[in-house]
Amino acid sequence: MIKTFDCALIGMGISGVLLARKLASVGLHVAVFHDDKPIKTSFAESLPASINPLLARLGLHPYLHHSAHFPCSGTYSSWGSVVLKQPDVERALQQKPGWKVDKSYLISQLVEDLPEAVVMFGKVSGLEQQRAYWQISSKNHMGEAVQVSARFVADASGRQGYLPRALNIPRHYFDKLMAFVVNVPSVKIAQLQHPVLVEAQQHCWSLVSQVSEKSTMLAIFSNQTSPDFERYSAFENWYEVSEKSIYFKQFIKKNIHVPVRKVNASSHICSQLTGRNWLMLGDAAMSFDPLSSHGMTTAMYMADKAGEAIAQYFSGKSQGLDDYSEQMTSIYNTYLNELVERYNGEQRWSSEPFWQSKQSINVSNECALVY
Ligand SMILES: Cc1cc2nc3c(=O)[nH]c(=O)nc-3n(C[C@H](O)[C@H](O)[C@H](O)COP(=O)(O)OP(=O)(O)OC[C@H]3O[C@@H](n4cnc5c(N)ncnc54)[C@H](O)[C@@H]3O)c2cc1C
Repeated sequence: MIKTFDCALIGMGISGVLLARKLASVGLHVAVFHDDKPIKTSFAESLPASINPLLARLGLHPYLHHSAHFPCSGTYSSWGSVVLKQPDVERALQQKPGWKVDKSYLISQLVEDLPEAVVMFGKVSGLEQQRAYWQISSKNHMGEAVQVSARFVADASGRQGYLPRALNIPRHYFDKLMAFVVNVPSVKIAQLQHPVLVEAQQHCWSLVSQVSEKSTMLAIFSNQTSPDFERYSAFENWYEVSEKSIYFKQFIKKNIHVPVRKVNASSHICSQLTGRNWLMLGDAAMSFDPLSSHGMTTAMYMADKAGEAIAQYFSGKSQGLDDYSEQMTSIYNTYLNELVERYNGEQRWSSEPFWQSKQSINVSNECALVY
């Protein structure tokens, strides 16, 4: 027998788990589809201090008071000049600090607290719209093929985006930024003790971000315009391609071999964020350049607002979906303008193709690109 739910939710990243929690809290019957592939590389995500009111509203501070996560006041940065700008610690001390979160652990904490009414299935393998219902193919916890039916679908499947591909919804891409990421043993450098460091370089920008006492994430962000683009894929080349950096190279140990993970870090927004009985949230709807530290904050905010819009839909008011779409698009436009301004703050290499590609807004429309 096919089970019917109010809402089918695709993906169990931070946006998916928060939306499941919200929908269950308003009494909706939710089926969550998740791909339980283990996460191999930590991106050592940081949350800015400005996220604290949202964390308070969502009741998330108690989850962060755990040794997996730690407070973090801003970022060291060498951007626009070789001078290392310190985070404004004084100001940060007057406010609550931001956070470094272990995203996988935070999600597992939130999953553990989901009410039993939220039913889990495996990865979505098929989706079909039939009049007022969606039919979803997946597997149950015993690995058996199942068919589930739902009145509403929310897509929180991350950058891959399930609905854009299933419904052929075009996506607007603003760049082709790629991230090359490694997790390496932490290196202690007396003058660089802050857990996050951003440095602009001639053909890329780089990030050092502490995962824990023992482990640090190093990342290079660039695109095909960089002459070193192919070389970033092998960690053996990193010291040489970063030789002209002042700070980043100090974190690169020469004789270790670690796999480099190449991931899409581009900015995009789908041309449509909602439909008659569906919506998208998190990276599936719109994605952010990690320079902005906006990804998780916006994914969490979208989960809250998507929950409100879906609850309104089930009380007969579909206007909430249009309002959601309008509000998120407006947030995205503001983000794009701020991002270009931030990249224009670095003028030392403004004739280099990488920096030129990031210093104005360029749009390319691509239909359901999968990375
Ligand atoms: C290198 C890097 C550094 C970053 N640093 C920061 C930072 O410092 N601060 C910050 O705020 N953000 C940062 N981000 C961005 C942030 O990680 C993301 O914006 C955020 O995690 C998005 O959450 P999400 O829930 O939308 O998607 P995801 O976390 O991608 O979750 C989507 C989930 O859906 C699952 N899924 C996909 N397809 C299916 C399917 N068919 N069926 C079922 N499940 C499916 C996936 O397996 C995944 O578990 C960074 C990103 C990168 C790449």
